[in-house]
Amino acid sequence: MRTFESVFVVGAGTMGSGIAQVCAQAGLKVHLHDTNEGAVQKALEQIAWSVGKLADKGRLSEGKETILGRIREAQDFSACAEAEVAMEAVFERLDVKREIFRTFNEECRPETLFASNTSAIPITDLAAVTDRPENVLGLHFFNPAPMMNVVEVVAGVATAPETMQQGEDFVRAIGKEPIRVESDIPGFLLNRINLVSYIEAVRMVEQGIGTILDIDKGVKLAFGRRMGPFETGDMVGLDVSYGALMAIYEESKDPRFYPPQLLRRMVKAGRLGRKTGQGWYVYEKDGTPKKSG
Ligand code: NAD
Repeated sequence: MRTFESVFVVGAGTMGSGIAQVCAQAGLKVHLHDTNEGAVQKALEQIAWSVGKLADKGRLSEGKETILGRIREAQDFSACAEAEVAMEAVFERLDVKREIFRTFNEECRPETLFASNTSAIPITDLAAVTDRPENVLGLHFFNPAPMMNVVEVVAGVATAPETMQQGEDFVRAIGKEPIRVESDIPGFLLNRINLVSYIEAVRMVEQGIGTILDIDKGVKLAFGRRMGPFETGDMVGLDVSYGALMAIYEESKDPRFYPPQLLRRMVKAGRLGRKTGQGWYVYEKDGTPKKSG
């Protein structure tokens, strides 16, 4: 079984910061890189807050400072050379992700695993810009990464069986449960199920059949979920779901995945969910939802 000591994470947004935290909590050294000035600093503050909360609840076996001390800002990709896993969690755009995989290819050792946290972009399309597509896989974390215990381990066309095995080893090493996705169809396994039910909920609101509050309440009570589809949608980001739906739709032309007009309009209006203070709900500064948006 492969062991892991160091990981390089590109993108310090919602997912990248969560992944960095999970890896640091599992004892790995983390280098975190982002092109947006201040993004890593903001991520470090968020991680400190989250680790602090877990420490207060007695859920950590180490001190907060020990865990935080494992995460370093990387100004460039040079620290890639020491990582066993180089992972990206940047915007859901093929061109942006491909550029990062090109850089991984230049900077990393031959045995480094290249992973994407994409929700819908085929792993094969990312692997194609490298000269070692057999090392490339999807490691699809769920949001919030520190709380969600499953990670989809996704194979592209050229991903080697050993890479899939090592991907599973990595997921277990950071305290999560892997599930295997043997073909990189957009949306993989779990998002396809989730997105179809999300946009069905949006369509029902659009058509005046039910309200956001009632649908969220009903789904939680009836299906035993902790969050309803609109609460989850705000946490994920409406733009992220929209991007994932369009990627699936463009690849498959399956009309079930075409984003409803209401979702398209919300994204155009910049109501992207918690991160913009308004999505399906409106949020106070401390993150408390005020009312249905
Ligand atoms: P986000 O917008 O919160 O963060 C993206 C970060 O990437 C930003 O900080 C941005 O500055 C940075 N970035 C963009 N281009 C970059 C570049 N070229 N180099 C370095 N940094 C760059 O996005 P997110 O919600 O964290 O999503 C990231 C990825 O994870 C996407 O592929 C998304 O589909 C996937 N994902 C998201 C969720 C979710 O619930 N948000 C869940 C699973 C997977």
